[in-house]
Amino acid sequence: MTRIAFIGLGNMGSGMAANQAKAGHQVVAFDLSREALAKAQEQGMKPAASAHEAVKDADVVITMLPAGEHVRSLYAEAILPNAPKDALLIDCSTIDVDSARTVARDAAMQGFRAADAPVSGGTAAANGGSLTFMVGCREQDFADIETALKPMAKAIIRAGDSGTGQAAKICNNMLLGISMIGTCEAFALAESLGLDAQKFYDIASKASGQCWSLTSYCPWPGPVPAAPSNREYEGGFAAAMMLKDLKLAQQAADTSGAPTPLGGAAEALYGELVQRGFGNRDFSIMLQMLRGQL
Ligand code: NAD
Repeated sequence: MTRIAFIGLGNMGSGMAANQAKAGHQVVAFDLSREALAKAQEQGMKPAASAHEAVKDADVVITMLPAGEHVRSLYAEAILPNAPKDALLIDCSTIDVDSARTVARDAAMQGFRAADAPVSGGTAAANGGSLTFMVGCREQDFADIETALKPMAKAIIRAGDSGTGQAAKICNNMLLGISMIGTCEAFALAESLGLDAQKFYDIASKASGQCWSLTSYCPWPGPVPAAPSNREYEGGFAAAMMLKDLKLAQQAADTSGAPTPLGGAAEALYGELVQRGFGNRDFSIMLQMLRGQL
């Protein structure tokens, strides 16, 4: 049995922490929200009064927080000063690469083993224990990190050293944002040219335009029954989350000097969608904005 401190029991963290408890580990949980703590207790976890208390006897510390500022301050104020030095520190939040590297460097300077391990898969995968983890860590620490993440995972892939898990996550999601907009533009153009949407799907899905956004997550209702487009774009991956990831990608591109003109355009378009009040809807609702329907 491993003693796990789990901090951040939101949409993603609550299911992830519950899967650690189900796997038989002792989970000491902390969140700023009282409701989240009460739910954790019902799921067999021990609620802690503070982050300091949660980490003090931990073998593994897992964080699932909104953004880089939350991770940086929690590490500096609670985790690094209070966790046992042999604890394994794993941050699963999606944050900027610089924050991930800073946190890992500070942890290593104090003798900790640390990893950035952001996830792909939404709340269904978090609840079902089928997330994909992209891990940035020292090679010699990976086996222990893999063991710690297993109850929450479908796949665990080491991307490289610290920060590369976050790099993989934002590059993947920038590609997804761009390919979704491209798919939406193609459907909108097909419509304006009098081409039937299902016919366009049947052709493009077997031609060189084929991509995940088209064949697994089609923004036009109908061709892919499980896609959020068939449910008024409810659930799925929120446009505001996509915007957050595109902003992280642009921030990383600015710092590293990499050219990402389409990433920049995607950020602007998702920014507009969110500004119009559709941040909570699935990101494939971009189709309706491009069709002039929003
Ligand atoms: P969320 O806002 O639902 O949960 C974050 C939780 O952290 C909240 O419960 C909040 O109270 C808690 N928190 C914030 N500061 C804290 C602190 N100092 N101490 C303790 N608790 C604190 O967010 P989420 O949807 O669970 O996402 C978490 C992370 O996972 C984000 O970085 C997000 O980008 C990433 N992510 C989300 C999804 C998704 O579909 N929701 C998918 C992949 C990755």
